Order: sequence, then C-alpha cells, then structure tokens
Amino acid sequence: PGVQLPYDPSKKNIVVLGSGWAATSFLKNIDNTEYNVIVVSPRNFFLFTPLLPSVAVGTLTSGAILQPTRYLTRHKPRQVTVIEAEVKAVDPQAKTVTFADESEVKGAVSSTTINYDYLVYAVGAETQTFGIPGVQEHACFMKEINDAENMKRRFMDCIETAAFPGQSKEEIDRLLHMVVVGGGPTGVEVSGEIHDFLVEDLKQWYPELADRIRITLVEALPSVLPMFSKKLIDYTISTFKEAKIDVLTNTMVKEIKPQSVVLQMPDKTMADVPVGMVVWAGGNKPRQLSVDLMNQYPELQKNRRGITIDDCLRMVGPSDSSVFALGDCTSSGYAPTAQVASQQGAYLAGIFHQLLKRDAIAAQLSETMAAGNTREAKQLRWRLERANNLRPFHYSHQGSLAYIGHDRAIADVNIFNKAISSGGVATFLFWRSAYLSTLFSLRNRFLVANDWIKCRLFGRDLVRD
Ligand code: FAD
Ligand code: NAD
Repeated sequence: PGVQLPYDPSKKNIVVLGSGWAATSFLKNIDNTEYNVIVVSPRNFFLFTPLLPSVAVGTLTSGAILQPTRYLTRHKPRQVTVIEAEVKAVDPQAKTVTFADESEVKGAVSSTTINYDYLVYAVGAETQTFGIPGVQEHACFMKEINDAENMKRRFMDCIETAAFPGQSKEEIDRLLHMVVVGGGPTGVEVSGEIHDFLVEDLKQWYPELADRIRITLVEALPSVLPMFSKKLIDYTISTFKEAKIDVLTNTMVKEIKPQSVVLQMPDKTMADVPVGMVVWAGGNKPRQLSVDLMNQYPELQKNRRGITIDDCLRMVGPSDSSVFALGDCTSSGYAPTAQVASQQGAYLAGIFHQLLKRDAIAAQLSETMAAGNTREAKQLRWRLERANNLRPFHYSHQGSLAYIGHDRAIADVNIFNKAISSGGVATFLFWRSAYLSTLFSLRNRFLVANDWIKCRLFGRDLVRD
C-alpha cells in the first residue's frame, strides 16, 4: 500500500518516527549511503528541552533552541525524506505506518501509508496528569515549545491583570500566586526561572506588584529532586528558602479550578488555594500511539510506563526484529532523559552498520552455497552467526545537572570515575557551558549565547504576544 517516495528500491527503508533527542541523534549518526531514510514527525524541528524553561520567562527566544530537522538531514550523503505529519497507526505485521497532516494547511492528500523494512520508533512521551480534574483545562505544561510560550503569555497576563485599576487586594494576591506542580527537575527549573524573572526584571518594571508575587512548588513525595544526592537536595531547598519560593512536600494536587488549586496537605486536610497560574510538571506517560502498538502484543508488552525492549533496543513482540524503540517511549530501566535518548540514537545508528555487514555476509553465503563451495560456506556461516549477535546497548551516565535560579545550578557528575556533587555560581557557569556545547549546531550556540548577553544588557522581554 501507499505512495512511492523518491528513494532507491534496491536499498532497505528505515522509517524514523519523531524528531526529538533519540531520532535526531540517530539521524546525525546513521550512514545513509546504504539505506533509504524517511523521517515522519508532527514538528519539523528538534527542540533542545533542557533550555525550555528559559523560554517560558523570556531569557531565551524560541528560535534559539529549535533546529529545523532539514538543517541536519541536508548534510547527509544521500537524500533523507522529511515528512511533517503525525503517525496514527503502526502495523508491525504488514510493516507499515499510517500518518496524517494535522497542520492548519492541508492539501488534497493529507493522509497516507508507507512501508518500512526497519522502524525506528522514537515518539517520546506525553505529560502525565493522572486524570486529575482541571489539569488539561486550566494548567500550563512544560513539554513543547508552545507550552513555554503559553506560560509566558499567561504569566504576563496575570501581572497586567493585577495592575488593572481598582483590583482588590485579595484579587491581586490571587493573580500573583504562581503554583508549580511536580518537584522533579522540570518543576524545580521552572520555579527557579520564574524567580529570576521576578528579581531581575519585574522588580524594576512593576515595583508596586513585584514584592507580592508568590511562587509555590508542590510535590506529592517527601522530597524534591529524588535523582540528586541528599547534599544537593538540601542545597536546593535552602536556595529556594532564600529566594522565598515555598516548597510544599508530601502535598498532593487533587484538582485545578479556574482560579484555585485544591491541595491535600500532609495531614490529609484539603485546602482550596487561590492562584493566578498553575504550571504542571507531573512527569511522563506513554502516548496513545505507543499504547496502541503495545496492545498488539498484550502478552509481552505489559509495562504501563512504556514499550519493553531488549538489550539491543528491539521491541519485544514483532517476530522479525524490525521495530527498534528508543528514548522516552520505552521502559528500558533507564531514566527518561535526553542523555539516554541521544546515546541510544547513536548506538542504533552503529547497529544498522552491523546489520548491513550481516546482510552482505548472508548474500555471499547464499551465492557460495549455490556454487556448491561447502568449505567457504562453513566459514561464512560462522561469520554470519557472529554478525547476528548484536552488541548490546550500554549507557554511560555523564551526571545530572539542573538550574535552580539565582544564577546557581546543581551537578552530580562523574569525573575520572569520581562522583562529585556541587552547587552554586561556578556550577551555573559549568551548566551554561555544558549546554552550550551540547546544542547540536553552531547556529543554535550563537543564538543562545546572543540571547544570554541580550538578557544581561537589556533585561527580559515583557511583551505579552
Ligand atoms: P522527544 O525529544 O520528546 O521527541 C519525541 C518526538 O516524537 C518529537 O519530535 C515529537 O514531535 C515526535 N512525535 C510525537 N508524536 C508523534 C507521532 N504521533 N508520530 C510521529 N512523531 C511523533 N533530559 C536531560 O537529560 N537533561 C535535561 O537537562 C533535561 N531537561 C529537560 C527539560 C524539560 C523542560 C523537559 C520537558 C525534559 C527535559 N529532559 C532532560 C528530558 C528529555 O527532554 C527527554 O528525555 C527527551 O526529550 C527524550 O527524547 P525522545 O527523543 O525520546 O523524545
Ligand atoms: P518527574 O517524573 O521527574 O517529576 C514529576 C513529579 O511530580 C514527581 O516527583 C511526582 O511525585 C510529582 N507529582 C505528580 N503528580 C502530582 C500531584 N498531583 N501533586 C503533587 N506532585 C505531583 O518529571 P519531570 O521533572 O518532568 O522530569 C521528567 C524526566 O525528564 C525525568 O527523567 C527527568 O530526569 C528528566 N529531566 C531532566 C532534567 C535535568 O536533568 N536538568 C530537567 C527536566 C527533566
């Protein structure tokens, strides 16, 4: 079924789903001289997520952390087909993917099906809301570029509305109460960024309001940042105390209403707290597309956190090992981080090189057998067996880094096999240089550095666009 794409029919097709960390790292590393590579993703760019909270308060502009996927693919030796579309279904039996154009402008054809020989499934995850009432309707998220832009708009709207003449004291206090839900790194970084905006810019431009802005971070567990060492958790808590960010642990959000948030406090009493803005950073859950794919193998795919894969990133289920899954859509035992996703992408590109070698040996073997050369065939069989043994994926943890506001960052890193925990201004400079060097292109490095300088010289942008 489906359309003919401008690829070479003598080569195998790798269809890559997604343009995030895992897919981009795969695309960067894959040698496409011997494969046709087709990318399908609803966004035609890569988003550098670690700096997303900085966009939400105007420290960085959106463009600085986005890289068009075609910037990467145009440097590949052969053409890579990039399709902006949302995948609706994957059929591992027929080896097809069906996708549709969900953008505003649609052509006469807006949905189709293509075949694959290998599928690189890297569609990421979506935000977990646990079905809590009001989250979808009233909270801002922090996952996609639109989320950061929405949050900035909402935040500035709360401030301008609080400045509206005749507003009561209670209403001003409500409008200026910002609640962040989730004490994982996303929630902590968002709280720190809001604080910076407040002390570095809003104090100057809204002196009568700035001191009344309150930031509250709500976490259901006993501690924030469970992936960091105790020393850095304590350092974060004390920095937040200094910054007047209230941290409520053992506190669970039960409902979000248009103007308030319902909290279950540590003593199990309920509190209806007035708010202007709620940012939801409650973690990940699999996309519906991944759940549908897993449901095709109900006996083997039982983990509700994501797709179960083997050591070589092959999805457990499809008998011909043609589906590889990587990044946040999987439940691989590793944390759902960019570090894991990008290492998996690079590893998988190497595996395709090995598969190519294996296919060449298999072709040589059938020729040799047809010619009746049994001695050489024996040797080739032995080589084929070795080539079929794919080298497993090994994750190398480079450490954890997070920005906590106040020009301070925290880092748990391994240097020369020594675990080092540090927090403060020097770590912040390390954080900045680490992320600047991790950005995929020189263009993005230039744009991010330029925004940082612009922000120091002229402050953040207050425009509510
Ligand atoms: P993603 O990067 O989310 O990419 C998924 C891709 O799939 C996207 O291109 C999406 O458009 C596409 N897609 C979605 N639906 C479909 C569909 N139906 N069909 C086709 N394509 C689809 N990790 C770190 O290690 N360090 C950090 O500092 C860090 N900071 C973070 C900050 C924030 C605010 C957030 C939200 C996350 C952060 N992470 C960080 C986690 C990191 O971003 C994720 O682990 C990483 O993005 C996972 O990569 P991925 O490729 O699996 O998914
Ligand atoms: P997370 O899963 O790490 O944290 C979500 C938190 O929300 C949890 O601690 C959970 O207890 C809390 N929560 C959920 N529902 C709640 C409720 N109703 N009330 C109160 N609290 C509630 O999610 P995240 O911070 O978005 O991170 C997702 C992944 O991305 C993680 O693997 C993380 O390591 C990675 N990440 C890394 C960085 C970094 O390294 N700097 C930054 C952001 C994200």
